[in-house]
Amino acid sequence: MSLLWGEEKKRKPFSTKTKKIEWMLASNRNPYDKSGRLRFVKTSRCRECKRPLTWGDRTYDFDHKDNNPANNSQPNCYLVCKVCHGKHTVVKKRKIKGFFGQTVGHKTIKKKVGYKKPKKKKPKKTRRVAIRNIFGEVTGYRTVKIRKPKTTKKRTTTRKVKKTRRKRKKKA
Ligand SMILES: [Zn+2]
Repeated sequence: MSLLWGEEKKRKPFSTKTKKIEWMLASNRNPYDKSGRLRFVKTSRCRECKRPLTWGDRTYDFDHKDNNPANNSQPNCYLVCKVCHGKHTVVKKRKIKGFFGQTVGHKTIKKKVGYKKPKKKKPKKTRRVAIRNIFGEVTGYRTVKIRKPKTTKKRTTTRKVKKTRRKRKKKA
């Protein structure tokens, strides 16, 4: 009974120790003092938008960075404010259909969007060009490499060669 798939995947909270270490790390503080004991300061910052947070005011969440709620390891703990947490979690609804194809209910699906900054799009190297016959009808497509815009570079090589030749000429 207890080994239901849904129950196994349930979100487990991080331990207080894990939360406190992440709390300190998020604000660039050393979570340990010189003798190796845990240090703690009541204020920290959101990892994403850097807004100040106060311990216990419920404006923040400890998020599972890899979206696996069973992974409660230290590097998977990620301190974000509620606003950033919401921004990076996409909630979708999927219809649950009954035996005759009718909608019985809805299932909410939470999907984590990574916290990494979006990469810049690479410029396209090829483009599609339509192949037309003599009547102007499109008969197919071919991919053509896009040429880079010409850059004007100064030519300096030819003059240097001439100079060295002159120098070598010596009187016998
Ligand atoms: Zn934030």
